[in-house]
Amino acid sequence: MTNTDTEDVFGTAMQVAQLARAGSELVRITVNTREAAAAVPKIRERLAQLNCDVPLIGDFHFNGHKLLTEHPECAEALAKLRINPGNVGKGAKRDEQFAQLIEIACKYDKPVRIGVNWGSLDQTLLARIMDENAKRAEPKDAVEIMREAMVASALESAVQAEEFGLPGDRIILSCKVSGVQDLIAVYRDLALRCDYPLHLGLTEAGMGSKGIVASTAALGVLLQEGIGDTIRVSLTPEPNGDRTREVIVAQEILQTMGLRAFTPLVAACPGCGRTTSTVFQELAQDIQTYVRERMPEWRIARIGVENMSLAVMGCVVNGPGESKHANIGISLPGTGEAPVAPVYVDGERVTTLRGENIAAEFRQIIDDYVARNYAARL
Ligand code: SF4
Repeated sequence: MTNTDTEDVFGTAMQVAQLARAGSELVRITVNTREAAAAVPKIRERLAQLNCDVPLIGDFHFNGHKLLTEHPECAEALAKLRINPGNVGKGAKRDEQFAQLIEIACKYDKPVRIGVNWGSLDQTLLARIMDENAKRAEPKDAVEIMREAMVASALESAVQAEEFGLPGDRIILSCKVSGVQDLIAVYRDLALRCDYPLHLGLTEAGMGSKGIVASTAALGVLLQEGIGDTIRVSLTPEPNGDRTREVIVAQEILQTMGLRAFTPLVAACPGCGRTTSTVFQELAQDIQTYVRERMPEWRIARIGVENMSLAVMGCVVNGPGESKHANIGISLPGTGEAPVAPVYVDGERVTTLRGENIAAEFRQIIDDYVARNYAARL
């Protein structure tokens, strides 16, 4: 999801293009004002000029029914609408405004993600479920009620959307919470109770390693159980940090679990007392960055490069063994070892690099391997 002001056509289009280049297959943008709604088709046009056709999802709250009615070209430019059933409207207006949104989705033939968020849970529905719970012989605790209310909000809104005319195969559900165990419990329940595609994501996952670890822990369990059709990793960027980080983490979750491949990943040892210089760490980082930067072109030009495996190891203790398991592997000299770096390609030792240009020479070996082993797309 972008974090630009959607009214800023140029800035938003640029960030969408960056996210798409990093591998995002769907990009969500906030549509919160008339100006933002008017900007959406212009963003789409700008993306076309950048040869970027990634689908755009519009995120609507409170005034979505008005914005989409006043700006039908916004609805047309979007590939999907995300509606938070807790933020559609209050009281009697809630159903009326939800119906308006669904009518627009039907008119423009757009799928809808009904995206429940525990921070903006439908309070009327929550109060009803709490009342029902109070009448039980053995009432459930507050956590269970919150989970039940989230699932009920998603399912009841989906039924309502179908009653308003949206075909069931145009509905996607999500129920985002910020706790790992809550997310797992809620999605297991949703998966048991419906056949709608599910969008997974831990909301407000946080910054840095905490956000990455929490998202991975939650999504890993669900994906392993076959639950989830699309995913998003919501990371709080460092100030002026790179927004594409969340795309890379999402890809790495899927790729390390063996579910999808996106970019060649570099296996690297953790280092130990045998690696007293930072040479091998720098090479591992250099190579991972290099293949990530090359991947957009490789993806277009070559078939299957994303499955290539690379290894950068810190010494010759485990280095050659690990290198032999990778398509291309290199073992740098550890402390006290001869200043040479044996390179293995598909299990065979093919050369030994030495001197100042090991990184450049290793990159060349990777380029040659890609050209030799992955067929050109016609
Ligand atoms: S491969 Fe070598 S440098 Fe890396 S952790 Fe193992 S022993 Fe240490």
